Amino acid sequence: MGLFDKGIEIKTPAEVAVMREAGVIVGETLQILQDSAEVGMTTSGLDAIAEEHIRSRGATPNFKGYHGFPGTICTSVNDEVVHGIPGNRRLVDGDIVAIDCGAIVDGWHGDAAVTVAVGGVADEIAALMGVCEEALWRGIAAARLGGRVSDIGHAIESYVRTQPAGDTYGIVEDYVGHGIGSAMHMPPNVPNHGRPGKGPKLVQGLVLAVEPMITAGSIQTRTLADDWTVVTTDGSWSAHFEHSFTLTPTGAWVLTALDGGMARLGDLGAAYGGPG
Ligand code: MG
Ligand code: MG
Repeated sequence: MGLFDKGIEIKTPAEVAVMREAGVIVGETLQILQDSAEVGMTTSGLDAIAEEHIRSRGATPNFKGYHGFPGTICTSVNDEVVHGIPGNRRLVDGDIVAIDCGAIVDGWHGDAAVTVAVGGVADEIAALMGVCEEALWRGIAAARLGGRVSDIGHAIESYVRTQPAGDTYGIVEDYVGHGIGSAMHMPPNVPNHGRPGKGPKLVQGLVLAVEPMITAGSIQTRTLADDWTVVTTDGSWSAHFEHSFTLTPTGAWVLTALDGGMARLGDLGAAYGGPG
């Protein structure tokens, strides 16, 4: 493991392989939670399912105890943007819940998030979720060895702004993606907007968590009295999708996607860089 350029951690291929193990466990957990986030389920119920699965795979939840966070996952419902604490809130038809999940294997971290529709959600909210998820993939697909970190945010912003109603969406700036490796949050920051060609160089061994948070309104956020839950100031609903990925000589490898990103990258005509 080497460190260079403002504390950026460069992983060896063997270390990336362990991060892939952590990523697969995160991906499995999110898939189980997606199927479990039904009408009547509580967010603490989802949390229990997540912790059980992560520990059954021999991994450790990385959010639990992080600066005192009480949950294994963050569950952010409707106008909650990120960092919602699992509790006795019962999901109702038409809700959306952003589930953010992380796991540690042998000291190496994985971090990913999905937003799930509970029952039938309004068309405009379903559209918002679709744009946010696609923007995440566009961001990853824009990353190239020798490129720059801001190429990712530029691709995210450019995609969002060219979608129907995309010019009315808020691309949250208070929270951003990040480097990840021997800790969950490491340099560099990975903003979800901006001009391309800026910031640290994208090199082999760098692993980044990309995580657009997109609202149906303003980008202004505030934190509730629980000191964790971040909500939109205008009450607009918010979607959040995240993956951790790395670049290999052959393309992008999405460590928290069960197929390594092969399908979605292929849809975008982007090179897949994971193992066969
Ligand atoms: Mg996360
Ligand atoms: Mg993250």
